[in-house]
Amino acid sequence: MSSDVQHFVGGESVTGRSGRLGDVYNPATGEVSAQCNYASAEDVDDAVAAATLAAKSWAKTSIAKRLEIIFNFRNEFLAARNELAELIGREHGKTLSDAQGELQRAVEAIEFACSMPHLTKGEYSMNIGGEIDNFSIQQPLGVVASISPFNFPAMVPIMMSTMAVAVGNAVVLKPSERVPSAPVELARIWERAGLPPGIFNVVHGDKEAVDALLSHPGISAVSFVGSTKVAEHVYEEGCRHGQRVMAFGGGKNHMIVLPDADLDLVADHFIGAGYGSAAQRCMAISVAVPVGEETADALVERLVPRVEALKIGPYDDTEADFGPLITRQSKQTVERFIDESLSDGAELRVDGRSFELDGYENGFFVGSTLVDHVRPDMSFYREEVFGPARGIVRAGDIDEAIQLVNDHEFGNGVAMFTRDGHAAHRFFEEVDVGMIGVNVPVPVPAGYHNFGGLKRSKFGEGYLFGPDAARFYTKIKTISARWPAPSDNVDGPDLTMPTNE
Ligand code: NAD
Repeated sequence: MSSDVQHFVGGESVTGRSGRLGDVYNPATGEVSAQCNYASAEDVDDAVAAATLAAKSWAKTSIAKRLEIIFNFRNEFLAARNELAELIGREHGKTLSDAQGELQRAVEAIEFACSMPHLTKGEYSMNIGGEIDNFSIQQPLGVVASISPFNFPAMVPIMMSTMAVAVGNAVVLKPSERVPSAPVELARIWERAGLPPGIFNVVHGDKEAVDALLSHPGISAVSFVGSTKVAEHVYEEGCRHGQRVMAFGGGKNHMIVLPDADLDLVADHFIGAGYGSAAQRCMAISVAVPVGEETADALVERLVPRVEALKIGPYDDTEADFGPLITRQSKQTVERFIDESLSDGAELRVDGRSFELDGYENGFFVGSTLVDHVRPDMSFYREEVFGPARGIVRAGDIDEAIQLVNDHEFGNGVAMFTRDGHAAHRFFEEVDVGMIGVNVPVPVPAGYHNFGGLKRSKFGEGYLFGPDAARFYTKIKTISARWPAPSDNVDGPDLTMPTNE
């Protein structure tokens, strides 16, 4: 077993004061690989104090200097890519090529943070009236917290924190306690890039650490990514304590398939977007919604052999399509959803429940599973199934398909496959979802467009990346200034309502 995973506060690795530890697993073997220190409220206090001290001079550091460090961070990050992929694979279980894909997406977010001077340069209006000029400036908030999920151990922390750092804040990151090592490595990469100590801090832990951050008077804003239940809690608690909060939750991403779509193309995309990363992606396609029985039968016929052919293995098996789930409990939950769908009357086409991998009998693996005739009232449909069990929900026509999407509590991502431009236009106009794909199965926008879902997939204003991320991490001040000439006379006080006439 490797040594304990420590916090990183004020530029140093620290054990913290709580004395609490939690197990970190290798999900492929089911064995404990490390112990992670869990922060108490006192440990969070220490991190916020270090961040508060550092934030003052960081906010006053020139934009040129801050940008130089972000550029360095990008280069150091690229140099550390293989090492990071290995850390992610070992603790998360995703394949090395999947981990490399995650890191590539993170690079986009770092590069976008370099556009911070343009995004925060403010506005100026000369002579709005009476020789008064109006201008607005965007300033950092101070110390902000980022609370991240297990499924993207490096990408999501980077998306949450790089813009925050670039615009002049200090960050306290509370990563998922299941994958603590890659986030600590990020802190070391920042250090090598020349970021002053205390600007990027990492505290590990569970609810205790999160709740301490949410009630801390030194934290101005919180970004959260995780499950909907916790996102709602974070949003309510943070707001109650006067923090600015953006909280991203789960999803149930539909892929509507119209009868005119190329079904071989659809089947390939459904497999990639539905089963990649063992479906532990917030933007994974969860259900296909073929329109019409003929389309449904033809699609299922194409999907079954493809689902059966998927290869499952540990993260370092270069032949594997995906790896294990994150915990034994996740495996049991996914298997329970499959069981429930069957007792609710769905039809199992490919069963991955008894999957076992030679030499990895205690790993948290679930085999690829396909369930047909899923209905909206089933738990398999209502809940986010965070594992490689995907469903087919048959719709009679396009109206029913769109209604299905709009009636679901989540609104993260959705896709439609068709050759009919008019139908596609109607789809993206009417569908109540934040990120929409037309013949694109995983509609994650580029780093310079806003990322965020609707309905119960996102609480609060603000976007994970894109221009609105810069707005989220800054406060706007608007100044009215007049410089009277020395010769201007003052006629005494004027109590009428000031206008710009
Ligand atoms: P999670 O909600 O269990 O944990 C997320 C974070 O919250 C972790 O840091 C965890 O320590 C903390 N946490 C857990 N329980 C808590 C509690 N009761 N009180 C306070 N804090 C708590 O989520 P997860 O299992 O790590 O991640 C998977 C979820 O994240 C999925 O639902 C997935 O859809 C979602 N996700 C969403 C997006 C998005 O952009 N919308 C992106 C990635 C992941």
